Amino acid sequence: MFEATHPVDFFDYFRVPYTLSPGAAVPGDARALVPVRQIRATGQRGDVSRSLLWLGAEAGPAVPAAGCRLGRYRLRNFTFFAHVAVSTAVPALLDRLGPGWHPVEQIFDSAGQPRAAVWRNRDGNVFLPFDPAEVMQKFWSERYRQVGRSPMALWGRAALVKGYYLMRPALPRQVQLRLRRSFTQVQERASFPGWPVEESLHSLYAWLFGLLAEVAGRPVPFIGLWPEGRSWALVLTHDVETDAGYRSLELLREPERQLGYRSSWNFVPLRYDVAPEAVRKLQEEGCEVGVHGLRHDGRDLGSRRLLAKRLPAMREYADRWQAVGFRSPATQRQWDWMPTLGFEYDSSYSDTDPYEPQPGGCCSYLPYFNASMVELPITLPQDHTLFAILQNPDADLWIRKAQFLRERHAMVLALTHPDYAVDPRVADGYRSLLACFRGDPTAWHALPREVAAWWRQRACSVIRGGGDSWRIEGPAAHSGRIRFAHPAVPGVPGVLTPDRAWRTDTQ
Ligand SMILES: [Zn+2]
Repeated sequence: MFEATHPVDFFDYFRVPYTLSPGAAVPGDARALVPVRQIRATGQRGDVSRSLLWLGAEAGPAVPAAGCRLGRYRLRNFTFFAHVAVSTAVPALLDRLGPGWHPVEQIFDSAGQPRAAVWRNRDGNVFLPFDPAEVMQKFWSERYRQVGRSPMALWGRAALVKGYYLMRPALPRQVQLRLRRSFTQVQERASFPGWPVEESLHSLYAWLFGLLAEVAGRPVPFIGLWPEGRSWALVLTHDVETDAGYRSLELLREPERQLGYRSSWNFVPLRYDVAPEAVRKLQEEGCEVGVHGLRHDGRDLGSRRLLAKRLPAMREYADRWQAVGFRSPATQRQWDWMPTLGFEYDSSYSDTDPYEPQPGGCCSYLPYFNASMVELPITLPQDHTLFAILQNPDADLWIRKAQFLRERHAMVLALTHPDYAVDPRVADGYRSLLACFRGDPTAWHALPREVAAWWRQRACSVIRGGGDSWRIEGPAAHSGRIRFAHPAVPGVPGVLTPDRAWRTDTQ
């Protein structure tokens, strides 16, 4: 039902069926002259065949440098970071694609000034002055954090964070906590990403789905996010920081056992002794064990050289524990390095977390790929943040965010530490969270390794067929379900609400 001139990351991510036809005609005869990408809706009734067009991120010389600016922008209800062709540069480009183009929606820069627009022509074709794939990558990798910052400021920030990581293990806990709180005051001033929820990336997805359904004139099929018809995922993980935490596992494991939950436990190989029997017992109960750095001294991912030196030992423990997952100590992370660790998945990114020593957020509450590695973002605030830094009295915020994610068919991935569970707010809060979703038939309660395996199966599967006979082929054929994204508000172009666009039906 769609034919594209170039690979479409958005379609690949959601597993929307399309064919790649590099020769497909962009309207007009100037395809070679214009760095425009195109998705054309095919198989429509009548002779209308509408397209969504956008500017390839590698547009380069075709748009003068002054006309295409990397920056922070706002469209409708979402913020995004990308190269965007400003309104003055676009008409010359669109003239080559046929007559009748006009701006239909404004895009604002970080100062709130209208700078660019979404364009439409008489035939219902739509032009985006930016590349959605670039937007997605900038979020997932957190590279948006570098947009608009000077190299000196970035260096200063990196040095501060590195210093904090190195100092931290030597500092008494009270001093650590005071430092974290003063970091927090600085970080609260940052306006992006929002906390405890940042919806921008998912609002972009919903908007794109709505636009595509409208261009196609019918609902757009994609492979459902979770297997077996479940509508959201619930994943429980723990990092065991110290020997004291190692000896307190039961504070968190016991309520899980009582309420019928399984979880993943990330251990630090060279900081305390992990008995093989402890690993075996967890695994026999259906739990998973992962690797949490090597020493948790602020240096495991501090430099590429040291990481290379430490990696063989991490791998050795991964083999010993049959671990396929990694969580970086203090969520220290480097986008390019993570896939080189050799794990099936990483879980060191948060959807939004201004309170970590390395603040940020990938803004995704779904898994995604970093090269061959699956990234499973942490999507609930950490126990330490909620109770020690922000002094929340109970689990209300946890539960409200989990419900918010549940409504959005997302992944709730919790990270708690037995080290902090001596605080009754943590242990009781965790129990309330578990109790809240116990027996929820819509939830896929899975281990992180199962989510990573499913995400790979889904990524290797395709939707084939058409009309009323869509089917999934590939490893997700059996457990996957086909869903449909609907045109937002039929007949009212330009009024798409994320919730409506994101509404999904079973087959
Ligand atoms: Zn840790």
